[in-house]
Amino acid sequence: ISLSSLLEKRPEEQDQPVTVFRDANELRQKIADDNMLISPLFPYDPMVAFEYFEITVPPGYDRLSVPHKRGVIEYITVFDGEMEVLSEDTWHRLEKGQSLRFQADRPHGYRNLSDRPAVALNVINYPGRK
Ligand code: MN
Repeated sequence: ISLSSLLEKRPEEQDQPVTVFRDANELRQKIADDNMLISPLFPYDPMVAFEYFEITVPPGYDRLSVPHKRGVIEYITVFDGEMEVLSEDTWHRLEKGQSLRFQADRPHGYRNLSDRPAVALNVINYPGRK
């Protein structure tokens, strides 16, 4: 299941416009009891097999993620603040402008040890999925 399917209904595939404007300021929300804010800028689209989020990671956030299905890859680019991403048993520190690509079909996680929110782009690619 894609993350964005939890956040909103999938648009009707046949009427997808070619050019789509989305505003993260209008879309930020929490899922369940997790206090990360997620803005589903471009929900999962089978044509491209990825979903595209802005995430806001609050200070003190520290969470391991359940591995996704085999082959899933995540990309993170930090736009503001700093955060750390766990991959292959190492926490990788990312500052503004820095990015990480990692295999998300194994244990991974996100944390923010700083005293202000980190804002990042998160792309989740589901290769081979329809
Ligand atoms: Mn993940």
